[in-house]
Amino acid sequence: MAFADPTAEGYRCYLCGGQTFTRLHAWPVGDRWNPARISIAVWQCGCGIVFLYPVPGPEQLPDCGDWWSKRRKRPRRNLTYKRIRAAVSHALVGSPRYRFVKYTRKAIASGKLLDVGCGDGRLLQVAGPHYDCVGLEPSPIAAEQARRKGFPVLQTAFETARLRSRSFDVVTLDSVIEHVRNPLHVLRKANRILKPGCVIALKTNKFNGPAYRMHGRGWYGFRHGYHTFLFTGKTLSRTLEAAGFEVLKRPKRDRLLDDILILWGRKVREVEPASAAADPSCSASGESSPSGLPKPCGRDLCRSPADGRLP
Ligand SMILES: [Zn+2]
Repeated sequence: MAFADPTAEGYRCYLCGGQTFTRLHAWPVGDRWNPARISIAVWQCGCGIVFLYPVPGPEQLPDCGDWWSKRRKRPRRNLTYKRIRAAVSHALVGSPRYRFVKYTRKAIASGKLLDVGCGDGRLLQVAGPHYDCVGLEPSPIAAEQARRKGFPVLQTAFETARLRSRSFDVVTLDSVIEHVRNPLHVLRKANRILKPGCVIALKTNKFNGPAYRMHGRGWYGFRHGYHTFLFTGKTLSRTLEAAGFEVLKRPKRDRLLDDILILWGRKVREVEPASAAADPSCSASGESSPSGLPKPCGRDLCRSPADGRLP
């Protein structure tokens, strides 16, 4: 079974510009973990960045890759155990979203909040009492659900959304950064729309945590075919710093036994928005769209050509 080789195809790491990659795991067509119609693999750059290559296109994923489609394949293990564990944990310390907002409020207590990839609006519901909330969501299925909860939602991909510079106090990305085509582009854009000194909150699966070490290629955090980048505390911190943020020491959730990584960053400098031409990870053949913008990831698919301007 042949697997596409990112080095041979001219791919460059978005963070260090390197082209020396090690293949960590591979899933051929038909593998139980691989929902795509192509073989996929996860690679690691010498700098530590872990990425999916190749990234399946919409036509290569079930239901056009819409994350919110009920037809999306979701292989899971120990589901009953996980449900019980989650119910106990929620009862004792609150839901993960409640805690995410609670800790974000320690960094910045109020203001205008944009939830990028707001999904069906559940984080907006928790944040709503504390912040002036706006959602952004490419999936028409999820955007409609979030609107029904009473929030303004831009139905568009963040990468192409037209948003005013310095217009938000908080930008949240809950389970989003692992879906994008270029994390540095996304965080630079977040930097641009944040006011100086304001805060970004990021939550993602932690690569190399206990669950990954136990399950390896069957780690659910890969969301095989959908998660384009996997981060450790170090690699996500370096990406945040490259995008003009200072990683906050408190709050910070990157403990040894965590499988979920949460980092908060404060905007400490303005950064130039990355142009596709200047970005090494867009130089690979097939990596950029004819418009020069990064191709949408699985989460950005099926989006309508909505205006993307704030109401
Ligand atoms: Zn690298």
